[in-house]
Amino acid sequence: MNKNTRYFEAWSERIREKRRGGDADLAELVRRLEIAKVRAGSTKPPIDLGALARAASVVGVVQTELAFRGRIVEDGHGLVIEVNASLPRPEQRFTVAHEIAHLFVEGDSLRGTMRKGRGRITRQRHAAVEALCDRLAGEILVPRQWLKQRLERDRVALETVRKSALEAEVPIGCIVRRIVDDGLWRVRFIRWVMGDGRFSAVESWPEVGEDFLAQLECAAGASVLKRAILEGQPVEGHERLRSRDGETEYLIQCLAIDAQGMRSQTEILSALVFD
Ligand SMILES: [Zn+2]
Repeated sequence: MNKNTRYFEAWSERIREKRRGGDADLAELVRRLEIAKVRAGSTKPPIDLGALARAASVVGVVQTELAFRGRIVEDGHGLVIEVNASLPRPEQRFTVAHEIAHLFVEGDSLRGTMRKGRGRITRQRHAAVEALCDRLAGEILVPRQWLKQRLERDRVALETVRKSALEAEVPIGCIVRRIVDDGLWRVRFIRWVMGDGRFSAVESWPEVGEDFLAQLECAAGASVLKRAILEGQPVEGHERLRSRDGETEYLIQCLAIDAQGMRSQTEILSALVFD
């Protein structure tokens, strides 16, 4: 195992370790979510978030102008989920699912904190709750078994990622995070954007430090990434990546799509395949 792979693997392991601690809580939350989905009459993607919100006692979901992604407010009739209308539709759906997750994670205490103001929550606790709600949003929108079956059935995995995102009406990031979190495919996903003739790594799953990502580059002409743009379908090959720790050759699969799963001339989703 070379140095880069070790670095990537160490990150993945650390993230998995961190998550394992909260697995019991997570399992209970997921169980309650599953019951709510059944009550809402929506267990298969695309999940009917309006029905699920109602099952969670929300009186309305409204698109509105916001400076952030979304929030839960209390009006005269009950709890209302507000979502930023300028976000792409898959992002809006992820945001609504995240807000629904807050109801499951914080429950009645949410109403309390809304009255008192949320300033009392420590920053650490806030970050932990946000991460948990993102995780649960994935559980709401992309059932594990549903995704697992798709990946097993279709051999061209990146195309499956794209189709699953379109079918579940979620951002690509929601699907790939699910794959990484649940270990459904032993890969690292990296999103690249082309500008001035070179590719920049802009996102990675599992996450790596921002500075590490900024320094990551294709060492030898980015031939596989370029081929993906030209051919418009999934391609596979070997690509040398250079980071501050040195240079390594990876087996890489690439597909030219943007964060919403649409075909792109400038954006690539790639998977570094570890086995
Ligand atoms: Zn939140």
